[in-house]
Amino acid sequence: MAELDGKVALVTGGASGIGKAAARLLAERGARVTICGLDRADTEEAAADIGQGVRGQVADVSDETQVEALLAEIVEGDGGLDILVTAAGIQRYGSAVDTTGADWDEVLRVNLKGTFLPVKYALPHLRTCRGSVVIVSSVQAFVTQTSVAAYTASKGALNAFARSVAIDEAQYGVRANTVCPGSVDTPMLRMAARRFSDGSGAGEQGLVDAWGRTHPLGRVARAEEVAEAIAFLAGDRAGFITGVSLPVDGGLLAAVAVALPE
Ligand code: NAD
Repeated sequence: MAELDGKVALVTGGASGIGKAAARLLAERGARVTICGLDRADTEEAAADIGQGVRGQVADVSDETQVEALLAEIVEGDGGLDILVTAAGIQRYGSAVDTTGADWDEVLRVNLKGTFLPVKYALPHLRTCRGSVVIVSSVQAFVTQTSVAAYTASKGALNAFARSVAIDEAQYGVRANTVCPGSVDTPMLRMAARRFSDGSGAGEQGLVDAWGRTHPLGRVARAEEVAEAIAFLAGDRAGFITGVSLPVDGGLLAAVAVALPE
């Protein structure tokens, strides 16, 4: 019997990157998985590519009406919900001075409210089965770089939110944790590499490789490596783990930039 046989899971942001890898792994381990994405064609294509009975649903995670309807449909169709993985997210660039009010609102709306809403509407169902929530945050919840003011604020808030959910829901046996990846080779990272390679002369792959070298393990992560942490936290093997933020970062948070001479 597979580890997640009989479990019902929803993965937001499941049409690409980390969410797609997590959906694939949860399905491989026996869960009945729905992925939620923004674009119908992309979402259906991702579901078909993963196979294993994974279904694609379209919803904007920051729209309360759509999220409520999505959760109702899953619960009606599958008889409940055991696992929620929130991987939908966006990145915008700018310091506090450069970030427009519109960009700030958009990042907080998608990354933070777009996590809060699926959690809010999943919890009544998770409470009935001692289910679990895994929120995809970032190392940027702990450390940061230049020109990511809104993004880093959203990720710091997600870790705090996950702790709040963990404490409120512990009485029902529901667990809530975050995974905090360093750089991961996904469409989001590639978009950033294309944008910033224009000025650096390194080229997209050169910049991804350079970012990789800033991680002690010397490379960026594969989405499948983050999915392993998500699937572990989602399942019963992590039954006594709640309220934690798990870095999946190749040692990034363990290092300081000050090196002794060779
Ligand atoms: P990605 O762009 O492939 O995935 C993000 C997904 O979220 C996309 O499929 C996108 O369509 C979806 N999405 C965006 N807005 C949405 C909305 N309003 N409603 C529904 N879906 C929406 O990138 P990824 O790297 O896989 O990102 C997944 C998560 O991992 C994000 O929260 C991101 O912040 C986080 N993360 C990524 C990295 C990295 O280096 N790639 C590092 C740390 C954390």
